Amino acid sequence: MSYTIPYGKQFITQEDIDSVVEALQADYLTQGPRILEFEMNFAQYVGSKYAVAVSNGTAALHLNALALGVESGQKVITTPITFAASANCVRYCGGEVVFGDIDPETYLLDINSVRAILENDPDGNYVGIIPVDFAGRAVNLEMFRALADEFDLWIIEDSCHSPGGYFLDSTGIKQQCGNGNYADLAIFSFHPVKHIASGEGGMITTNNEALYKKLLALRTHGIVKNDGLYTNHPSFAAASKDVETYPAWYMEMQELGYNYRITDFQAALGNSQLKRADEGIQKRRAIANKYYEAFKSEKFIKSQSGVIEGHAYHLYIIEVDDRLGLYNYLREQGVFAQIHYIPCHLMPYYRDLGHQEGDHPKAEAYYKQCISLPMYPTLSAEEQEYVVHKIKEFYV
Ligand SMILES: *Cc1c(COP(=O)(O)O)cnc(C)c1O
Repeated sequence: MSYTIPYGKQFITQEDIDSVVEALQADYLTQGPRILEFEMNFAQYVGSKYAVAVSNGTAALHLNALALGVESGQKVITTPITFAASANCVRYCGGEVVFGDIDPETYLLDINSVRAILENDPDGNYVGIIPVDFAGRAVNLEMFRALADEFDLWIIEDSCHSPGGYFLDSTGIKQQCGNGNYADLAIFSFHPVKHIASGEGGMITTNNEALYKKLLALRTHGIVKNDGLYTNHPSFAAASKDVETYPAWYMEMQELGYNYRITDFQAALGNSQLKRADEGIQKRRAIANKYYEAFKSEKFIKSQSGVIEGHAYHLYIIEVDDRLGLYNYLREQGVFAQIHYIPCHLMPYYRDLGHQEGDHPKAEAYYKQCISLPMYPTLSAEEQEYVVHKIKEFYV
């Protein structure tokens, strides 16, 4: 039996297909009713007041940075172990990215490194922090909020890996990723390797009404369509003297926005997928548990964790010696493990901005031995056993 096993993969059912077909046969391809439905269902799922669906996770990050008014000269702190988009949104607005280091136990942005950055540079013009729920493990945002408040910073939670994940706050209450209780804004992606797939797609969640309204306008060119918000006079709008009401066609572009809309049929797919989100997490947790049990007494494992409460397991990462050898061997055997991530600060683009090797030793050490094993709800027991067997075979 030969296998081809990727590290992640979407799971599309007949019900998903039917819901997309239904959307395609309806009146709207874009800006239809399924978008609002998806937003409402998603907000309910994560426990936030508001949700704004957008064309992808990167667009979500960009809109967040715009809505928070990031501009040239301002500094924002994030983790180097993330997809580049988490940092790039700051650059889109001309801001400066400052990386912290990671906690080698959790692989998440180390709050102590963030505190050190802020305390060492009190006049540094820091405006925000972008923690990432990397691999599906929720950042403790209660602690980040306290730090952010001390330095008057906003927080964007990059929750692309963690819909359905949570951390326990200091009173033992579950705080869902993206619930808006601690972060100003949170973002999600519906790229096929993520928990919920819509093709391309993204979501922003928040409890802040002013930011929510701003995001709605920025998503569609900065256009508002609401009598109460117009600044031009009705007589101009109607192109007719002495008119005191706005004609039905009227709208205003009030700031420079974008077209970052999602389509109605993508929202249909997202909605249908969302119904199975919890089931997907259960499967992911079961897979994580099997990996843990299979490797827990193996000497070639330098680090892995057992099943952690609230972890959404977008990725299952182990740290090993001879990572390159293992990676290549697995590829030859049809197992396409992946590396998450090449430290962002060492991407040529960020090196050109002055970041360099040695800046974040823990993130760099992690990169030398991390490997993400296949992790997706439809990974079968036989496939997972094959993966485990091939890894053990490599090290004997
Ligand atoms: C996938 C991802 C993004 C970007 O999402 P897209 O929908 O691909 O634009 C941002 N941050 C993280 C951590 C991601 O994994």
